[in-house]
Amino acid sequence: MRAAPMVAVSFRCGHGAEPGAAGAVALARVCPLCMLLHETQRSRAELLSRVAPPQRAALARETRIGASYEWRCARGHDRYPATVGEVLTGPSCAKCRANAAAPGARREAGIAFMKPGLRLGTSQVEQRLRMLLGERIRLHHRVNAVRIARMFYGKQEVWPDILVPQLRIAIEYDDPGRSRRAHLGMKEASDLEKDEALREVGWEVIRIRAGGLEALGPHSIVCRGLTVAVVDEVVSLMRRIRGDAAVERLLIPQQHAV
Ligand SMILES: [Zn+2]
Ligand SMILES: [Zn+2]
Repeated sequence: MRAAPMVAVSFRCGHGAEPGAAGAVALARVCPLCMLLHETQRSRAELLSRVAPPQRAALARETRIGASYEWRCARGHDRYPATVGEVLTGPSCAKCRANAAAPGARREAGIAFMKPGLRLGTSQVEQRLRMLLGERIRLHHRVNAVRIARMFYGKQEVWPDILVPQLRIAIEYDDPGRSRRAHLGMKEASDLEKDEALREVGWEVIRIRAGGLEALGPHSIVCRGLTVAVVDEVVSLMRRIRGDAAVERLLIPQQHAV
């Protein structure tokens, strides 16, 4: 790969070179760091509260995901160096990481639980998916998070769209949606890491990939949008992953269609 040319760039978010500075190229998009913050649903203020105070001013202007800083651990461990990208998507401080993988934490790994106050699964298509799936199998409505054995976005848990704890299967619905212009590569890398964290604790992830998205991971359903046929396919994938007997225990008897 060639090194990027050293051209001053000003971004729409106001980061980078002063707009109108001599030789500066003005881009109509936000800087890579603002983009990642948006995708990980974080704010720059949140990031600034975690960096070592002497580096706050520099981080306030930062545009690069790969830039390295010193961070304060939210649980009060030692400061640790990491890139901005690692802090937003990655494994946290070494002590937290060790704790997450410790035998005590391992016992809880893979357990689904109710995380109060999560504003997830509120999109219309997710509600429809939950409804259509709920007509076929008995869904557990009181869980929305799974304990994992590593750190993910600074937490030892993940929040997939739909959980079927009886089968240890999570279902994710992905479409380009409003973030059509978002950095898909970044989102996919983070999704794959989330899937891996789940697989590590005995879960499998079925991904419904709509609206032109390509398959991602071993159990993808590529489709134009959410339909009854897609939900049928989710159930057949469950059978393939966990076997007919396990899935049949959850099936809701279907009325005969005409
Ligand atoms: Zn920016
Ligand atoms: Zn820590």
